[in-house]
Amino acid sequence: MRSNDRSSPKPILDRPALEKALKANGVVLKNPDRHLDVFYQQLHRSGYPPLPEFIAELRGKKTGGPLTPMSSSISRRQGKRRPQLPKALLDYLEHTDDFEVCTSNVQLAQTSSNGSTTKLAVELQDGHVVESVLMRHDGRVTICVSSQVGCAMGCTFCATGTMGIKGSLSSGEILEQLVHGSKILAQGSNDTSIRNVVFMGMGEPLNNYQNVLAACRSMIDRRTWNLAHNRVTVSTVGVVPRMRDLTRDLPQVNLALSLHAPTQEMRERIVPSARGTPLASLVEAVDAHMMALVNTQDNPQGNGPLDQEKERQFASKKRRAMIEYVMLTGPTSTLEAAHQLGKLCEGRQLVINLIPYNKTDVKDKLSCPSEEHMMKFRSIVSQYGSFCSIRRTMGSDISGACGQLVVEQQKATQNMKVADIEDGFDSARTSRKENVSVKRPAKRKTQNSDRHRDKNNEGVVFSMGNGDFDTNRDAS
Ligand code: SF4
Repeated sequence: MRSNDRSSPKPILDRPALEKALKANGVVLKNPDRHLDVFYQQLHRSGYPPLPEFIAELRGKKTGGPLTPMSSSISRRQGKRRPQLPKALLDYLEHTDDFEVCTSNVQLAQTSSNGSTTKLAVELQDGHVVESVLMRHDGRVTICVSSQVGCAMGCTFCATGTMGIKGSLSSGEILEQLVHGSKILAQGSNDTSIRNVVFMGMGEPLNNYQNVLAACRSMIDRRTWNLAHNRVTVSTVGVVPRMRDLTRDLPQVNLALSLHAPTQEMRERIVPSARGTPLASLVEAVDAHMMALVNTQDNPQGNGPLDQEKERQFASKKRRAMIEYVMLTGPTSTLEAAHQLGKLCEGRQLVINLIPYNKTDVKDKLSCPSEEHMMKFRSIVSQYGSFCSIRRTMGSDISGACGQLVVEQQKATQNMKVADIEDGFDSARTSRKENVSVKRPAKRKTQNSDRHRDKNNEGVVFSMGNGDFDTNRDAS
């Protein structure tokens, strides 16, 4: 099991780790919050160059040109005079080996044949590999990030679920996926930047709560990624206490519940971790998140409560809480199941996204129902007052489902040992495959330490993979 505490160097984007190190090394800042805010703001504006280069720039030394050619794609606020940072902070960062700007590197990037989706295999410094996915749609880009190496939840339809859990990512490692994604976008011809983040890659984000929370806070920080709250979506298979914590700590971000079945018995068959978590408690928790901001600053009526129905309509339109339902051929997608799902959510006006199953090579041979059947299913669920839509899948030609690329990569490595196969990514023959030039910087010193526009729902919804993937609606 990997341990973030023992890793060295640590990601500089892991702010809690930097704060701890400063304290441990006796670096006293007069106004630590403000100084670190400025430090991270400057790092973002500089496009995340290697640390020595960045510190030299902060000290006003010449670096021979712009810090990085990608900088403008990450931040548009270039050219302003750099504010002063405390000498003690710069001295520490100049001489320490404890931190690097990027501790991970992009091992492989595959772009789908239509250019809409790029899947990244990101190698962490301990050799583990996680996946991130960039999805381009209508000039906007969504990145799907991983929060863990593998996953303990073991969902039967998920490639990641076959890996077991190997550990969690630090907040810095989560944020580095945004840095890699931004640098890859900068290599393209379009001037696009990341607008949405979804935690629907490898892992159960709410099993890595503190690091996911810290990463979310950085994503919505106006000094750095500056994403609107409703453009960050945390997806869970249902860790109820942490769902409630998220509603308390960050009620503005989106919460997506991967429900996938309408009864407890059916759910336990495909989501083994569901044992002991009643369906009703999950629906209650997602409903509480949806309603959390009603009668607060988001209420268009200002003072006074709306009537209950209008409150729900208002909250539902915000789409801050959603139910994800993977469409697998079998008992969970029968028309009877559609009635059961509709009844389960009746009266709440919840948003339900049906996600066509994207075939993976997991042990059970699963498939997706026909489009016609999914339309009927959707129509039945909608009769019970939920806002139900079917999502388009993306990236099926690049091992699109969650964990699929890494699982295939592992298999390929095993096959190579046995059969001396040169290229293990046969399944991606139809896609463009690039080994991108985003490398981890050398150590500085010796180690000292289709859009589916739903008629009822007006939402633009996308999907990639087996259901553990989502984008939030562009709320602009
Ligand atoms: S679907 Fe999500 S929660 Fe389930 S095993 Fe895969 S990564 Fe884990």
